[in-house]
Amino acid sequence: MPLVSSTPMLQKARAEGYCVPAFNVHTLEMLQAVVEAATELESPVILQSTVGTVKHLGENYIAAAATVAANSTFVPLALHLDHCTDFSVAVRCIRAGYTSIMIDASMHSFEENVKRTKQVMELATAIGINVEAELGKVGGVEDDITVEDHDASLADPAECEEFVKLTGVSTLAPAIGTAHGIYKGDPNIDFDRIGLIANRVSVPLVLHGGSGIPDDQVRRCIDLGMSKMNVATELRIVFSDAIKEVFAKNPEENDPRHYMKPAKDALKAAIREKIILCGAAGKAPARG
Ligand SMILES: [Zn+2]
Repeated sequence: MPLVSSTPMLQKARAEGYCVPAFNVHTLEMLQAVVEAATELESPVILQSTVGTVKHLGENYIAAAATVAANSTFVPLALHLDHCTDFSVAVRCIRAGYTSIMIDASMHSFEENVKRTKQVMELATAIGINVEAELGKVGGVEDDITVEDHDASLADPAECEEFVKLTGVSTLAPAIGTAHGIYKGDPNIDFDRIGLIANRVSVPLVLHGGSGIPDDQVRRCIDLGMSKMNVATELRIVFSDAIKEVFAKNPEENDPRHYMKPAKDALKAAIREKIILCGAAGKAPARG
């Protein structure tokens, strides 16, 4: 089937108490690994690219590859732009075929965040695609966006309610203590806050910084109302480590197929684990 908006799949996840994993991909093999694993486990899934990957590969190449992947599987597949701060990049990606956009104006004031989110919502609503916005500031490094620990701030539940009311945004990423990149210690997740936000806001909630959160803590986040989990850094590490292993054994290797295949296989195994952890296996509608 064609690429779909992530809104219905995330609303279903929220209603049924599981989570749809969203994987950041940077190469064709990574994209294929996600779609193959999701198809085998009959799971809805979200492919993501950051603005940095859009600059690296071009939005048209990414959307074309994702469309081919979507047409080759029966599982619902969405293509999401992660952490976009620039309206014109969002528009370019929508035109290329993206079915979900994160407009990240969390570095601005609440009023400015509302204004920028509404701008994208207006466009997205007209063409039926998903919009995700962030409240509070998720710490760590995500592509070009760096938030120092002392600048990271958690989302306020009352503000979340107000924000959804004012913007009509389809999905919300509240900062609740997770961070981008790999955690130095254990993440410091404010579980009570997730519960408070989920009580006030009925739209699906998004967990950023999904790399390296212990499994039991991920499950707790999902039980409390997180319906989408972003995983990026962990995938890059698994993929790159498998390639390093090939070159450690055979420094003379010069056929990309010989080092990309083991990397894709390793990635697929890691993705399978995340899909199962999210409770998304078997949640794709039955084959028609
Ligand atoms: Zn993020």
